[in-house]
Amino acid sequence: MRVLKFGGTSMGDEYTWQKVFNIIKQYDHPYIIVSATSRTTRQLLAAAEKTLNNPEDAKLITDDIHNRHYAIITKFLSSVGESDSDIAANCQNWIDERMHELNSLLTKIHNAHKCNPAVEDAVASIGERLSSYLFAQCGKALGLPTQWVDAAKIIRTDSNFGKALPDEDFINQAALELWNNKTNTHIPVMGGYYGKDTKGNFTTLGFEGSDYTASLIGAALSADAIEIWTDVSGIYTCDPRTVPDAQPIPNLSFQEATELAYFGAKVLHPSTTKPASQKKIPVYVKNIFDSEQPGTRISHETTNDHRIKAMAFKENCVILTVTSSNTVMGYEFLAGVFETLHRHHMPVDVVTTTEASVSITTENDKGLDEAIDKLCDYGSVELSSGLGIISLVGCKPKKTQNLIQDVMSTIQTSYINLISYSESKGNLNIVLEKTDIIPSVIAIHNELFR
Ligand code: ADP
Ligand code: MG
Repeated sequence: MRVLKFGGTSMGDEYTWQKVFNIIKQYDHPYIIVSATSRTTRQLLAAAEKTLNNPEDAKLITDDIHNRHYAIITKFLSSVGESDSDIAANCQNWIDERMHELNSLLTKIHNAHKCNPAVEDAVASIGERLSSYLFAQCGKALGLPTQWVDAAKIIRTDSNFGKALPDEDFINQAALELWNNKTNTHIPVMGGYYGKDTKGNFTTLGFEGSDYTASLIGAALSADAIEIWTDVSGIYTCDPRTVPDAQPIPNLSFQEATELAYFGAKVLHPSTTKPASQKKIPVYVKNIFDSEQPGTRISHETTNDHRIKAMAFKENCVILTVTSSNTVMGYEFLAGVFETLHRHHMPVDVVTTTEASVSITTENDKGLDEAIDKLCDYGSVELSSGLGIISLVGCKPKKTQNLIQDVMSTIQTSYINLISYSESKGNLNIVLEKTDIIPSVIAIHNELFR
C-alpha cells in the first residue's frame, strides 16, 4: 500500500479536489493525508492574533474561512449531483460545528488578553480537521470508500505546542490497529499537521507538518512508498518560484533531501525523511497538475557525478556570537550554549568557533530574545540580524578549490558573514546579508546548473 499526501495547494478548490480524486482512483486502497485548504492555517493563526485587540478583523477572517469551505463543498457536490444529499448536510453541519469551536477559542483568547500556545494549536488544528472530514465526505459522494480518521486518535505527541514531537511507538500501534480493522474496505482520509498530547490537548508538528504525518503513517504501516503530491514536479535544483530555470531532480538520497528541506526548500518538512528513511521506504514528490511526470524519488541510493545536486536558501536568519568570559573556551561553555539553544527550540544552522567564542546561525524566531537572555549566563552575546543562508547540497566535486572559487566569484556581494564546507557531507553553506541572497542564488544557479 501507499500513503498519499496532498498539500494546501492540492486542497485549494473544488477543481483541485477533482484532480486529487482522479489520482486517488488509480491506487488500490491508499492511506490519504491532507493539509488544510490553501491559506487556511495562516488565516487561523492571524485570527488568533487579531482577536486580542481587533475582534472585528478576526471575524472577517473567520467569515472568509467559513464561506470558502462552504463554497468548495457546494460546488463540488453539485458537480457530482449530490447537492441535496445527506452528505451535503453532514458537510454543512461539520463546517458549522468547527466554526463554532473556533469562535469559542477566539473568545477565550480575547477574554484572557493573551493567546497561550495550547490554545493557538487548538485553533491551528481546525484547518486540517475541516479539510479532511469534508474531503472524505466528497469521496463518498463520488462512490469511493473514503473514511474520515481523526488524527487526534493516531498522532500522539509531547506537549511542545507548535513543534510537537511525535510518540512513534503509540503512532505505530494506533495506525496498525486502524489499518488492520479497515483493510480492503476503506480508504482512510486523515488530516496532517495536528495530533494530541497525553492530556488531550491539540498539538501541531510545525509548518508543513502534514509531510511529517504522511511519513509517520507510512513508516507505521510499512508502506511500499510515501507520495508527497504538490504543485511542482518534484524537488528542483532550486525553488522554481525564485529560479524559473530550475529543473526537477530525478533521484536524491534521504540525507540530501533532508539537508535541502532543513536549509529552506519548503517543498518538504525537514523531518519528513526520518521515519521513511529508518524503514527504508522511498518518498516520491509529484505534481497533481502533471501527474505523468516522474517527479523526484528519495531513497537510500546515492549517486555521485561530481556535480552539485541542488541549492536552497533561507532569508530570515541571525548570527549569535557568544564569547566566553574565560580566554579559553571550555567544554562546559559549549555544552551550555547548545543546551540553551536546544531548550528554546532554536535550530542551529551553521557553526564556527574561535579559541574563546562560538558563532551560530539560527532563525529569527519567537524564542530568540529569551534564548539570548539565557545565553548571557555563559558570556557576552553579540547579535547580527538581517541575514540569510545559501546552501549547496550534494557537492562532491573533483576539486573542492574549483567549486569554492566558482561560487565565490559568482556571489553578488562584497561581504560574506560566515562560510562552512563539509567534504564528507558534501555541503557548502554561505551566510550573507538578506538583501544579497536572491541575486546571489540566481547567479550561483546560473553558474553551476546551466
Ligand atoms: P503544498 O501545499 O503541496 O505542501 P508547498 O507550497 O508547501 O506545497 O511546497 C511546494 C512549493 O515549494 C513549490 O511551489 C515551490 O515554490 C517551493 N519550493 C521551494 N524549494 C523548492 C525546490 N527545491 N523544489 C521544488 N519546490 C520548491
Ligand atoms: Mg508543503
